[in-house]
Amino acid sequence: MSLLQFTNKGIYCPQGNFYIDPWQPVDYAVITHAHGDHARWGSKHYLAHDISRPIMQARLGADISIETLPYGESKMINGVTLSLHPAGHILGSAQVRLEYNGFVSVASGDYKVEDDQLSSPLEIVKCHEFVTESTFGLPIYNWLSQQQILDNMKNWIGATSATSEPAFSLPIV
Ligand SMILES: [Zn+2]
Repeated sequence: MSLLQFTNKGIYCPQGNFYIDPWQPVDYAVITHAHGDHARWGSKHYLAHDISRPIMQARLGADISIETLPYGESKMINGVTLSLHPAGHILGSAQVRLEYNGFVSVASGDYKVEDDQLSSPLEIVKCHEFVTESTFGLPIYNWLSQQQILDNMKNWIGATSATSEPAFSLPIV
């Protein structure tokens, strides 16, 4: 059994008749987070996390049809129970949990396993099937630890605020 299919419009749940992060316009798009490679223009109706609403309205248009859910609250769509759970990637990023006849699928866009102190930390959601479309989760990408990134940012701020000169200069040609 599966609740998710890969189609030319994106990841589709046939039981619920909706798409998750579709890359073509569809009637009903469930959005994992508001980054441009996941929340795309043109769908008739969107469902996303509460925090994604103003970002999606700013990017896709104030007049889009959008409903939102907080983390952990369920919504029934054509017999499929849907809920959103923190993905730890950016503010409002969510894993989409689907349950139908006792079978549980989780679809996630990007996610981050390390707590960045800003996003709600990743929640481990038990499931029978897990599908992720995480561009920067590819093994070719290697990331510094969260602490190293924060240290680098602090050092950069310290270096640039200690002088009125810019921390870098453009080459003169
Ligand atoms: Zn993203």
